[in-house]
Amino acid sequence: MSDYQAQRVVLLTQHGKEAVVGPELATVLGCQVERVGGFDTDQLGTFTRERPRPGTQLEAARRKARIGMTLAACPVGLGSEGSFGPDPFSGMFSWNTELLVLLDDRLGLEVVGMAQGAGHAGHLQTADWDQARRFAERQGFPAQGLVLRPQDQDDPRILKDLPDWASLEAGFARCRALAADGQVFLENDLRACANPQRMARIGQAARDLAQRLLSRCPACQAPGYWITQREGTLPCRRCGGPSSLWQSERWRCVRCSHAELRSRADRRWAEPQHCERCNP
Ligand SMILES: [Zn+2]
Ligand SMILES: [Zn+2]
Repeated sequence: MSDYQAQRVVLLTQHGKEAVVGPELATVLGCQVERVGGFDTDQLGTFTRERPRPGTQLEAARRKARIGMTLAACPVGLGSEGSFGPDPFSGMFSWNTELLVLLDDRLGLEVVGMAQGAGHAGHLQTADWDQARRFAERQGFPAQGLVLRPQDQDDPRILKDLPDWASLEAGFARCRALAADGQVFLENDLRACANPQRMARIGQAARDLAQRLLSRCPACQAPGYWITQREGTLPCRRCGGPSSLWQSERWRCVRCSHAELRSRADRRWAEPQHCERCNP
């Protein structure tokens, strides 16, 4: 049985994240995820650049979890924080990373679930409604929300929560009238409630967190025992030299100092195609 069976777990959010996080954790762990409101999480940073987020993404997720636990007087809490940046392969496309941290004061531990992938973060600057309309169609409006502002990406006069095409067109006309140069800056709303792809990824991070919480440390039984890195290289089947495939996984407890190196179970050799010498 999981350590979270029938346990109340609070989640501070004002963007509806409980809808994806709750079912994922309830199914696997048997806990009850309860939304905590009463705090404006936008105070901790926004995607629309009015308020930069202080510190790292993980620190922000932790901060939210801690505030929710304090507000609800609950020893177990969740904090979710997303980020968008360049993709790690080419640096040319948008990349979304979602963290979901669980703080457990009963057991004295922290476990972090993670999911990442291509981000849905387009933008356009134009004075032309037809161009704006085509952009909005491509982005999947209105399921995918849009944020509008006059002039350029730094203008503080933000329009968001536009529910339909009529309000989008009216908002576009209003921003164009406000802009000295007649330009309007449109971008995808990155808040989870307005970004279906991000919401789905938060669900994936919850699934990852749930799997980690099911895995216990062999030494102290704490949940969250997981792979922290992959080490070494498998020898080439033909020449025995090093390959590009990893050899073992380092598992580590989040609470005590227990760690172990587990050899890869699925294969012991690398095919020559992965060998630096046989296939340079
Ligand atoms: Zn070789
Ligand atoms: Zn341990």
